[in-house]
Amino acid sequence: MNIDQSVALYKEAEEHIVGGVNSPSRAYKGVGGGTPIFMEKAEGAYFWDVDGNKYIDYLGAYGPIIAGHAHPHIAKAIAESAYNGVLYGTPTKLENRFAKMLKEAIPSMEKVRFVNSGTEAVMTTIRVARAYTNRTKVIKFSGCYHGHSDLVLVAAGSGPATLGTPDSAGIPKSIAQEVITVPFNDVESFREAIEVHGEDVAAVLVEPIVGNFGIVEPKPGFLQEVNDIAHDAGALVIYDEVITAFRFTYGSAQDLVGVEPDMTALGKIIGGGLPIGAYGGRVDIMEQVAPLGPAYQAGTMAGNPASIASGIACLEVLKEEGTYEKLDKLGAMLENGILDHARTYALPVKVNRLKGALTVYFTDTEIENYEQAEASNGDMFSRFFHLMLQEGINLAPSKFEAWFLTIAHTEEDIQETLKAVEKSFKTLANE
Ligand code: PMP
Repeated sequence: MNIDQSVALYKEAEEHIVGGVNSPSRAYKGVGGGTPIFMEKAEGAYFWDVDGNKYIDYLGAYGPIIAGHAHPHIAKAIAESAYNGVLYGTPTKLENRFAKMLKEAIPSMEKVRFVNSGTEAVMTTIRVARAYTNRTKVIKFSGCYHGHSDLVLVAAGSGPATLGTPDSAGIPKSIAQEVITVPFNDVESFREAIEVHGEDVAAVLVEPIVGNFGIVEPKPGFLQEVNDIAHDAGALVIYDEVITAFRFTYGSAQDLVGVEPDMTALGKIIGGGLPIGAYGGRVDIMEQVAPLGPAYQAGTMAGNPASIASGIACLEVLKEEGTYEKLDKLGAMLENGILDHARTYALPVKVNRLKGALTVYFTDTEIENYEQAEASNGDMFSRFFHLMLQEGINLAPSKFEAWFLTIAHTEEDIQETLKAVEKSFKTLANE
């Protein structure tokens, strides 16, 4: 595969953009380096790079692209909003409509506020929880990534873990001391953290279905216990559903796990590919937020007509019958095929999958927490990633990320992908 243009553009990018990329994981550091492919066009399940190579895409832009690239309904909504003016700085009718759609789909969000990214959404839920409880500490689970704000970039997952820098420079120790990190799926550790810090804990921050050390589901009862223990101690429960909302069902992971948090943070899919975030929760908590309450949060771009129109259009597409059944069917095909080929070539492979999202780990161990995901074979994953790329399959460049299917993928795409998997596994087995 010729990637000369990508090589040249990456060289140029490195002169002008720090590290040549605008988000670190794009530099392939998580898979041993290499030249990041510069994509030029995306449509449906496919990418075309600047050298004219075609790829089947499973990155899904790290999650938002569930309807497929350049979905006509979403593209039309964005184009129309461009001609209507993309930014007003005033309230608009569309924001009301979108807020109602979100509330209907996620009933625990009694009041919402739109922001511009998942990072902002999570960051603000923590501020609001602190304002509401008049406490400062936050408990999170190891390996879960909640954006790059100071407080949550402690023992963080996919991006930072891949880079081998779980804590970022530039974050004061005093802030890190406000965060307690415990293993996911481990009630006793959580209970202990609450016993030690209970009176100071404002909130526990949870990815109800983990997406950031691969797809990892909570053990039965785990999230209910987390809710009960947190509430008994007077702490709030915040669900970070930036990845999970509308990924597995038309609604949130709350529908699947049967537990409701006090607040929820959203992003990714709800923008249909444009920048967005949202947070919401119980009315009495959300009334802490300005202009009603003392917790300040604002945004020039927040609720901009383009992102809102794109988000509404995306949810309209997802609401159509059969969306999640299709994602599940394709996901199962992919999972079964990968496991079959792994057996054929005697490779240690585990697949964690929920509907149209899955993670391939090179390991013999079941993956239930970050430590196990971390122990899976990263060198083998890196080789696999590059072999697949050469076969025209674009995966996320990290052993901790998920493959995201879209409704644009077809059974033929899966078959083509599985051929590439077989070829790559064969190579790996012979190395
Ligand atoms: N929370 C979770 C669970 C995420 O996966 C991410 C991004 N990968 C974020 C928050 C941050 O979102 P954003 O990149 O839009 O700031």
